[in-house]
Amino acid sequence: MIPYGRQSISQEDIAAVVEVLESEWLTQGPAIERFEAKVADYCGASHAVAVSSGTAALHAAVHAAGLGCGGLLWTSPISFVASANCGRYVGADVDFVDIDPETLNMSAQALADKLEDAERAGRLPDVVVPVHFGGSSADMHPMRELADTYGFTLIEDAAHALGGRYGDTPVGSCAFSEMTTLSTHPVKLITTGEGGLVLTNDDDLAERLRLFRSHGITRDPVHMHGDAPGAWYYEQLELGYNYRMTDIQAALGASQMDRLDTFVAARNERARRYDAAFAGTSVGTQVVLQGNLSAYHLYVIRVAPEVRGEVFARLRGHGIGVNVHYIPIHLQPYYRARGFTEGAFPNAEEYYAGAITIPLFPDLRTDEQDRVIDAVRRALG
Ligand SMILES: *Cc1c(COP(=O)(O)O)cnc(C)c1O
Repeated sequence: MIPYGRQSISQEDIAAVVEVLESEWLTQGPAIERFEAKVADYCGASHAVAVSSGTAALHAAVHAAGLGCGGLLWTSPISFVASANCGRYVGADVDFVDIDPETLNMSAQALADKLEDAERAGRLPDVVVPVHFGGSSADMHPMRELADTYGFTLIEDAAHALGGRYGDTPVGSCAFSEMTTLSTHPVKLITTGEGGLVLTNDDDLAERLRLFRSHGITRDPVHMHGDAPGAWYYEQLELGYNYRMTDIQAALGASQMDRLDTFVAARNERARRYDAAFAGTSVGTQVVLQGNLSAYHLYVIRVAPEVRGEVFARLRGHGIGVNVHYIPIHLQPYYRARGFTEGAFPNAEEYYAGAITIPLFPDLRTDEQDRVIDAVRRALG
């Protein structure tokens, strides 16, 4: 089976992990700060805070934004459930903004329209989480303007998009948002096994993120309520979690960062081959916003809803590890039970009905890609 995504591990990666295993620190050591500095520097953000998963990154980000009970978070229905669940973790309500049918990202126009309605109804969102679907950034300029007009916090879920660009701006720079979250799960752009990061340019948010990741505990006298009676002393200032990344993981991540540009170039090269193969056929593909460089976490083909199930089954039958990203979040039983129904977000639902994710990863060989293209053609033929 050719999987839809797969990590690429080098001898350098292995050596970096072994070096940590032979060192003093397996966790809470120097590899974390090195990894964080590397990611922050690459993205052009002031701070990167490494955590145990992309989901933990979202949880930490909404907490740092001050979201809580009685609050409201909006995200895209075409994402992994974590983009919405983070709002529920802190007791907030969750709602969705429909996607643009071509870019497959949260539509800035739909967001503007929904905000107008929400203002009239007296229930504006506190946090909005656009998701850079497939690796191509959402249209952040108009979203920033809306955030300033309506006073909500923008958190970019960039789990798909590390290494991508929005115009001249690297994804993760937080030029248009308060925070950006990343995932370093093996199918994503770089891996640490499990892991994630939150990027921000705000010193106070960075401090809140670091507290949240480690039980709300500080050892920094500056933040303490009382005088430290000795070197053993620490204070728990708020309720946090153990969301730490290990040094073993961080060393792998730092080593992977050295090849991020190579990974993104390899993904783009393979995406171009797919684009060429499907041009002029009935197969549709994601439109990358003008000026964007997509990190191409995913390559999605779009077929007629009537044949999607059959095409999917045939591809699996041919050993192609296709998948579907994503079942609209609002149609999950958990969210249906919170009042969402079919028809609520028509563009998302129409997209889902015809979507198939085909294999795309840096080490995908040309002969494997030819097998995928051939299998798609035959499955449709
Ligand atoms: C993978 C992913 C996450 C969650 O990341 P984990 O590291 O698996 O917890 C969140 N949002 C999106 C869009 C993702 O693709």
